Formats: sequence, structure tokens, C-alpha cells
Amino acid sequence: MSALNDTERELVGLMTRISLTCRQGDTLYKTGQFDAAKAKYMELATDIVGAGFSLPMTAGSPSGGVICDVYIELDPWQRANLMGCCVGMAKCFRRENNLEMALAWCDEVNALYRCGFYQLPQPVYDWIDSCPDLPELTLVKATALCLASEILASLGNSGTATTRRWNAHKTSKNLFMHHQTAALHAVLNPALRNRMLELRHPDPNAPLSAGRVSGLQVRGSWSRLSIGKLGGPTDGREAFASFIWNSHLYVAGGRTCSNGPFHRDIWKLDLNNPDEWRRLPDYPIPLQISGRFIGWTMLIHNDTALLFTGRPTIDVFDLKTEKWSSLKTTYAPTSADIDAGVVDGWPWPNKMSCDATIVVADDKIYVFDGAHGRSIMGCNLFMELDLTTGTWRRLSGYVRAPQIADYSCPSPRKTAAGWASPDGRRIFLLFGHFDREATFHNELHSAGEAFGHEDFWSWGVQEQRWRRERISGNPPCARTELAFAYNAKLQRAIVFGGYHPTLPTHVINNSGEEKKFNYSYFADTFLYDMAPSLGNSPEPTLSAPKWQQVLTAGFPTYRCQAQLAVDGATGKTYMFGGWTNNQYIPTRTKLFSRSFGDLWELRVDLPGGNFEDVDVEEEMRVARAGPWQRCFVCAAAGPWKKCGGTCNGRVFFCGTTCLREGWSEHRKTHKCRKA
Ligand SMILES: [Zn+2]
Ligand SMILES: [Zn+2]
Repeated sequence: MSALNDTERELVGLMTRISLTCRQGDTLYKTGQFDAAKAKYMELATDIVGAGFSLPMTAGSPSGGVICDVYIELDPWQRANLMGCCVGMAKCFRRENNLEMALAWCDEVNALYRCGFYQLPQPVYDWIDSCPDLPELTLVKATALCLASEILASLGNSGTATTRRWNAHKTSKNLFMHHQTAALHAVLNPALRNRMLELRHPDPNAPLSAGRVSGLQVRGSWSRLSIGKLGGPTDGREAFASFIWNSHLYVAGGRTCSNGPFHRDIWKLDLNNPDEWRRLPDYPIPLQISGRFIGWTMLIHNDTALLFTGRPTIDVFDLKTEKWSSLKTTYAPTSADIDAGVVDGWPWPNKMSCDATIVVADDKIYVFDGAHGRSIMGCNLFMELDLTTGTWRRLSGYVRAPQIADYSCPSPRKTAAGWASPDGRRIFLLFGHFDREATFHNELHSAGEAFGHEDFWSWGVQEQRWRRERISGNPPCARTELAFAYNAKLQRAIVFGGYHPTLPTHVINNSGEEKKFNYSYFADTFLYDMAPSLGNSPEPTLSAPKWQQVLTAGFPTYRCQAQLAVDGATGKTYMFGGWTNNQYIPTRTKLFSRSFGDLWELRVDLPGGNFEDVDVEEEMRVARAGPWQRCFVCAAAGPWKKCGGTCNGRVFFCGTTCLREGWSEHRKTHKCRKA
């Protein structure tokens, strides 16, 4: 696109006044006529989409997700006008304190913007932001992102709040000067953005509250389990495989640190009596054949754990006999597979695959994305292995990312999250990143930084088709190397932590110096309820499917590559391991190694979530907040000193003032005496 000349700009000014009828609603809103504004926005929006169309659209079935034919047909002026009406509706609902509806209307703007991409003459990958040269559209998109950011910040979802505001800045910063208006600058609010970049997620200094906004938040608690004996996985693990079977947590392979040692072992821990990790027979396949045991997944199927490494042989660990064996599989490429880049009769070059997202459902293994022998950036190959016949089939995608994007399937990536719906009919895929820095063998699409995917997809097993899902409710921000699991007892998918390759974090260290990281680590927790929406509800966006944040007073330290696993017998959810950059948690560097060997349990305030065991009051005062402790008296989080009394450091005090104020209460409640 090219810059406009003066005559064209004048014409645009005229078009703006005629086309953007949403400004009639804005005028009513500004003069305090909120009900009239709401009615006006709705009337104008209905004029654009037609009377039979329900706004905002619902997530999941039966809608088409993000893609909407009505939206794709709109010209940029109609699009900007409808986006303006949606922002107006969002403002009205926010005024009424109906935050969930306000967020749904903000998300509608996002879907409208995204649908503009489906009009382009050639499909483009998500890392290309193709904004039409229409300053009004830039402004309304930024307004929706920043409004959502404010609402999410008020809910304590600082990760997604910061990402929304950062995206508003990113999407507009390289546009022509005539987009850079005073109105846009006011919306973007660079001073607020910079303050938000200093937060960590969760923000340990955010006020703790026992209340929650129903529908968008769930109370929860993270508690660390102490393992009787050190050794084995307690030394810390990253890029490992793990699962729970028969109330035992298994951990296999991975590495202690990025430069090793590299493991080929497997261990188990009794979750009902976690006194020590027991070592089982090592992975028997030689290194020259399998490559390193890094970034692989083990899945449970009929009392065995299956391990896919990219080879046609699946390695099998029998959980009853604790012996390794193997399962041969076959694959015959179709001509379409060969067009998708399959060579030498096998989809994964050099018979290697790592960092893929692998899900088991109904006797089938689904393998999506990951790196292989000819790409370390990540691919979007989607393969299915039928365990009853041992045969592979390609469902979608390419061995290496082609020049032109394909909107019918998710873009190439690695280390995404994935799970199956309880009925096995949909396979979900969330986020991940495309490692554009890691170019290899002249791969296309290399760049100076990785791209963190912000999308959510599901594969319809019956329809054999992908759907790009809306991310509704109070969701996690884009991230990769996140921990995830499906908890059948809670009927929720759970995600925790992870890493954003390009969301900056500015850390002020103890000496007051600012250190800028161009990435972020997370320690926040979210639930996804994928139950289908109730079509007859008057406000269908208020029912599932949607995301909720789990609010916890304490949380494990910010990290990526941790893993979640659910004990099917008890419904308990556990988190183990992972990795963080030492400098990211500057206050206690000496105490933290780069990888973690800690084990945590998550409780959530839902039926079956074991929340009745949690002492909410106590936890708000003593729980560990990431790398910090909470002061027992003022609840501020920081590198505080332990109580030196006979309680063995059960509580922490931020300084002598709080120690003096809180001592007598601590002495009484925890029976502590001066040592
Ligand atoms: Zn204090
Ligand atoms: Zn004490």
C-alpha cells in the first residue's frame, strides 16, 4: 500500500463522516445517554450484518469460530464501522460492570479484524500484520485491545492485559504517519504500557482478594509437595516426558540444563506417599538411532506408555511389568502427501521429531507440529496413527512451511498445547511458537525473532476439518512451552506458565537498575471449559465454551517447559519441573538453579477440585508468590527474611515494623517462640 495524496485524503475524510455511523452512538455515549447509545450501536450493527445475525457471536459449535462469511464480505469502511459499534457496546457493558459481555464485544472486534485477512488476494501467515490503510480502523482496533487490557488488568489477568496493550502498540507502530493521530496516542498510553511491562504474571504485588468475578475467575491454590529424599528428578528437569498412571508420577528423559546432562532414564514417584523417586529400566534405544530424549511426549494407552520419536517404531513401556518393547507402524504416502513435502516414504525427515504436540483419543494418536530432521523452526504436519491397525495417515499440513499460508489449518509451530474433548470428537491446539530465528537448510520465513502464536484451533474428528476457535472469557495470553492437561473430574483443560518469545519484561533489580528482557515467563493458571454453548441463552457468550483464570495467593516460580498431569484416580492435578532464566528472578539468584525439580499440587474451587482442604485466609498471608515470600503482616511479596523462631520459618516478615506488629499473632496462631 502507498501513502495517500492530499485530494485522496480529503475524500477519505468525507467517506469517514458518511460511513462511520457508529459515531452517532459515540455522541450519545459522550453525552451520558448510555441506554440510547447502546440501542443505537445495536441498531447500526444490525443494519450492517442483517437482522437474523446474533451479535456478539458465540464461541465453539455451532458457529464457525473466528471465520464468518458475513464478516469476510465487508468492505474496510463497513468493517471499521461495525468494529466501532462493537467497541461502543463494550464500553456500555463495562459501565454496567458486565465485564464478561464487555470482553465478548472487544473480542468481536478482533474477529472482525482477522476476517479482513481472508479477503486478501493471497493468504498470509499470522506473523504478517496486514492492516488496511484506514486510520479509523487502526484506531478502533487499538481501542478494543486497550479497553480489553483495562478490563483484564482489573481482573488481575496481568499477562493478557499487558499482551493486549503491547499488541495495540505493535500493530500501529509501523503504520503511516496519518495513522499516528493524537487520539491513537491517547489510547495507546505509552506511559501505562511501560508500567505494565514492569509486571510479572501473576504480579506478586497485586492486591490479594478472596472474592472473584463469577464466570471469569475461579479460586485456586498451589501447594508444594515435599519429597522425602533428594536425587533423580529432584535435581531439575527440562524438555522431559511425564505422565501419571496408577497414582504414580513418571518422569523420563530431558536434561538438567541446556548443556546437559542429557537423560535417557525413567523414574516414578508414589503420589500418595512421595518419599522418593524410584528409578526404572532406562530407555533402551541407542542414541545413534533415536537421537536425544529431548522434547518427546509419552502417552498412556491400555496400561502402557507410548513414546513417539519420529521413527516408524513406537517405543512402548509396559507399566505393569516395567519393561520396554516396541510397536511397528506403517505408512503409505498418498500423492497429496508427496505434494505436501513427504519424501522417502516417511513424513518426518531423518526419522526425528521433537517439540510436537501429541494427543491420544479413541485408539488414535494425533501428532501435530514440532521440529524434525529438516526444520528446527517447526512445521504444521498433522498426522494420525490408528493404534488398532498401526497405520499412519496425514490429516493436514506440510513437512516444511510453504511460501504461501494455508488458512485451512494452523500455521507451523512447535511446543504448543493440545488435548482432546471428553467425547474424543475434537482435538484442541493452543498457541506454541514458530522459531523463526532457528533457520536451518535455507528454510523459508526466517527472521530475527521467533513468532509467538496467538491462535486456538480444534480439529473436528468427524468433519475432518480444522476450526480456528474464538478465545472467549478470561483467557491466557499467547505463550509457548506451557504446561497443560485435561482434568476429567473437573471437566476442564488446565494450562499453566510458559514463555512469550517477544513480550518484553522490564525488571528493576534490588539496586534500582532496570534490565530489559525481550521475552516473558509466566506462572499464571487458566481453565478451559469446552462444554458446548447453550444456544437458547439470551446472552450465549456467558456460557461455555470459555476460559477462566485460576486466582491463587501463592504460585510456583515463573517458568517454561513445566508439565501438568492429572491423577485419574483422585482427580488431583500436579505440576512438575521446567526451566527459567536466572536473571528473570533477580532477587534470589543464588538460591535458584536454571531448571526445577519441584512438585506442586493445584486445587481449584470447583466440584472435585479438593479446595475444601485449603485455608484461604492463612494462604493469603504465607503462600509463596513465585520466587518471593509474602510478609505475614502486610502480604507484600519480596525477598523477605524467615521468622527465626521455633516455627522453622513458617512465616516471613518484610521488616522490623511488620515483625513487631505481627509477632504476637504469629506466636499465638503458629505456637512460635523466640529460639
Ligand atoms: Zn510487611
Ligand atoms: Zn515463627
